[in-house]
Amino acid sequence: MAQVFIALGANLSDPLTTLQQAVTTLQEHPALRAVAVSSFYRSKPMGPQNQPDYVNAVAQFETDLSPLALLDTMQNIEQQYGRQRLQHWGPRTLDLDILLYDQRVIQEPRLTIPHPGLTVRDFVLVPLAELAPHLILPDGRSINALLASMIDHDLIKIT
Ligand code: AMP
Repeated sequence: MAQVFIALGANLSDPLTTLQQAVTTLQEHPALRAVAVSSFYRSKPMGPQNQPDYVNAVAQFETDLSPLALLDTMQNIEQQYGRQRLQHWGPRTLDLDILLYDQRVIQEPRLTIPHPGLTVRDFVLVPLAELAPHLILPDGRSINALLASMIDHDLIKIT
């Protein structure tokens, strides 16, 4: 089974409840075995600022799904939650990103793993480090080194 980390984000219509429900949806999915879920964090939106704050978390699973089948699964769940894609970096009901799939490096039109935002975004790094404090990325960098060089620090732990 592959070890995978999924980043969850939401900023519309009660994002905390949305994220809690999304975690349950993922945990109950027959193709995913839940391993751990991080704390939930509130963060300022990237891009347009005239939108509500985000709530973010990271969850760890084991799966036999291929990377692309996992992406299809995440996109189906996003759609189930009525994600709107009106604007790049605009508000969304639920965003599910595949951060890591074992130590695989994937560069395909639909899928980049490790997720490009992983190394720079505090709302990904901080919850990921909670679950995997000794994680080393496929390029050899440690999560601790990335955390130390992170620029943004506007996260608030909410639960
Ligand atoms: P976004 O609006 O940022 O959620 O981007 C969605 C698009 O990113 C989708 O069309 C995916 O095919 C693509 N994508 C590339 N790499 C990933 C990844 N690691 N996890 C999720 N989506 C990805």
